[in-house]
Amino acid sequence: MLKHNLGYPRIGIKRELKKACEDYWNNLITSKSLFNIGKQIRINNWKTQENCGLDLIPCNDFSFYDHVLDMSFLLGNISELYYTQFKEDIDIYFAMARGFQKNKFDFKAMEMTKWFNTNYHYIVPEFEKNQKFGIYSMKIFNEIDEYKKIIKNAIPKPVLIGPLTYLYLGKEKNTNFNKLDLIDNLLPVYIEIIQRLIKKNIKWIQLDEPILVFDSLNDQIIEALKYVYKTINKICSNNAINIILTSYFDSIEENNLYIFKNFSSTFNLHIDLVENNSNLTKILDFFKEEKMGLSLGIINGKNIWKNNYTHSIKIIEKAILKLGKERIIIAPSCSLLHIPIDLEFEDSIPINIINKMAFAKQKLYELNDLEKILNGQKEILLNNFKYFEKKEKEKYIFKQIKKENITRTNAFQIRQTKQQKKFRLPLFPTTTIGSFPQTKEIRTLRKKLKNHEISQHQYEELIQQYIIDAIKKQEKINLDVLVHGEFERNDMVEFFSDKLQGFVSTKNGWVQSYGSRCVKPPVIYEDVKRVDDMTVKWISFAQSQTKKLIKGILTGPVTILKWSFVRDDQPYYDTAYQIAWAIREEVKSLENSGIKIIQIDEPALREGLPLKKKNWKFYFDWAIKAFKLSSSIVKDETQIHTHICYSEVNDILKYISDLDADVITIETSRSKMELLNAFSNFAYQNEIGPGVYDIHSPRIPGVKEILNLINKASKKLPIKNLWINPDCGLKTRTWNEVMNSLKNMTTATKIAREQHASS
Ligand code: GLN
Ligand code: ZN
Repeated sequence: MLKHNLGYPRIGIKRELKKACEDYWNNLITSKSLFNIGKQIRINNWKTQENCGLDLIPCNDFSFYDHVLDMSFLLGNISELYYTQFKEDIDIYFAMARGFQKNKFDFKAMEMTKWFNTNYHYIVPEFEKNQKFGIYSMKIFNEIDEYKKIIKNAIPKPVLIGPLTYLYLGKEKNTNFNKLDLIDNLLPVYIEIIQRLIKKNIKWIQLDEPILVFDSLNDQIIEALKYVYKTINKICSNNAINIILTSYFDSIEENNLYIFKNFSSTFNLHIDLVENNSNLTKILDFFKEEKMGLSLGIINGKNIWKNNYTHSIKIIEKAILKLGKERIIIAPSCSLLHIPIDLEFEDSIPINIINKMAFAKQKLYELNDLEKILNGQKEILLNNFKYFEKKEKEKYIFKQIKKENITRTNAFQIRQTKQQKKFRLPLFPTTTIGSFPQTKEIRTLRKKLKNHEISQHQYEELIQQYIIDAIKKQEKINLDVLVHGEFERNDMVEFFSDKLQGFVSTKNGWVQSYGSRCVKPPVIYEDVKRVDDMTVKWISFAQSQTKKLIKGILTGPVTILKWSFVRDDQPYYDTAYQIAWAIREEVKSLENSGIKIIQIDEPALREGLPLKKKNWKFYFDWAIKAFKLSSSIVKDETQIHTHICYSEVNDILKYISDLDADVITIETSRSKMELLNAFSNFAYQNEIGPGVYDIHSPRIPGVKEILNLINKASKKLPIKNLWINPDCGLKTRTWNEVMNSLKNMTTATKIAREQHASS
């Protein structure tokens, strides 16, 4: 029985990679220094993994920005535009990832999107009709040479994204072909890579095909998978090369198993048994008739809790009994990219909580423990047992959720009439999504408070000044519904998790989100409860400064859950409901303080979507219930908004409608309001604010351009339901950009109103 790992975090224990990349982008260090820092991180990672006793260690899982972009580089999938402008490959690479603007050059960054159901973002490969591929980057081969010089006690296992997942993740530049047709051009390049690896004396290769967990793959992909892996299996078994083909983030679809019928013993399938192990028996039955090896993803690569050895040993023993020890490999469920690196630096987490936690490094030692237990060291098992004993402590009383808790008093139409009568907003009311620029000044202020360089009182006075200033600015450009600006918030989840009971934050628990950007998700370790008001002070202060309506902004339960590490000793939905009860109390308290419009942000709603379509309904049942629990406590006259920030909603519109928010603000500007067709076909009832400009770009949209979009939207939806707003929060923009853009937005709205009044 071997032990392996699918991938290790590459940001460096002190986020060295972030600093190095940012310094390089700012011309503070040379590419040589950058490469050295990268090399150091790789070496440290390999040594750590060697010390953990792994048999196979991943290679080529390191990346300066993104492993999907690395794959595009390896396969020579690089637009010619980039080739010509830069001397060094690394500059082409970063230009593709981040865009490049200098003198007459102006390259847009390539599109970025979320990696399956995680918060990691990859750079979307682009394909042309009849595109050719060929080995371009030598990264994978160089890293193997590097590895071999340093690591003596474990076998290197280069990692590649499988050809079908690679195609699946990319997009066609034109609509006149199907990207899957490119497999004929792509497969020979994969074979060439494998042959070069064989020449380097590589014995193990990992190919990632997480799409194997989907239940919605069409026949063309299935046929392509069969053809590709039959070919690869043959070459590899002829050369005695072992392949580990990985699936993760859900259980492998049983129907997809027969793709691998009659494969040789050098071929191994990796399955995720953490996310879902309900079909393990069926998988074992299939394997019983086969020769392939089975890699058991037994340790959670996406969460930060200790492994329950009793549970894992049961599964491993079951597999061994069926297939024999030689055919079994054990591993984490997926790459450890999605969790922090090492617990060692956490000195402020209470001992009873930290005792239950394991980060990437600790998880690899757990594999070792499991092996030792199988070899008879039962005391390890007993020792682990105590962390999983159910304590007799007072149990959270799950408040029963009654129908009236998740239903507004009256239907939308009645609420709308009441709200319109009360608010008397003009046609096309204008608003923003909540945050205004988080300037360096504000971040410094927060740092000073943390280091006790200023008092809480001083801090709060200064934040009040920012709010006053933001309100003046919003009044000046004549927005209709104002916001307080979220200046007191470092992050839309952390702000709340710091104030709710049941959460703990880490000091160094960084996880890569994209490129050099890392996030530090809080940990939910016990029952979530609201102790006190969280936002009321700031929002009602803002309301006291203006006669206009202030919209209070909160983060919704699904987003708080999704962007945290969640306890795994109770179902996710129970934790979501606990958060929802807490947000509900905050909503009530805001209403009691005279706030008439409340927005509950749910940008992570789509990200939480299960990979298997058959599980969508179950997910939405609880996610919507949680949202409604948090929002339904208000009077008819109090207006509930929600905000989601992505454009693909076609397939989930019904569910969005079920949220029953009075107003929803969404991203539409990039799709030029195309998205609204779906809303109009669906006959969406409630009010809607399609974003009229893209806040992700520093560009200032013109009046005409916005007016155009307003008119387009007016043709697709009832005008009485339309709001005018940017497509997301403004925290990443400068005040100059914000003021100019919003001024153009209110001017365009004014013209649109006049046009409608005279028509
Ligand atoms: N209210 C938040 C903001 O304006 C929403 C952010 C988001 O959608 N991610 O920043
Ligand atoms: Zn948004």
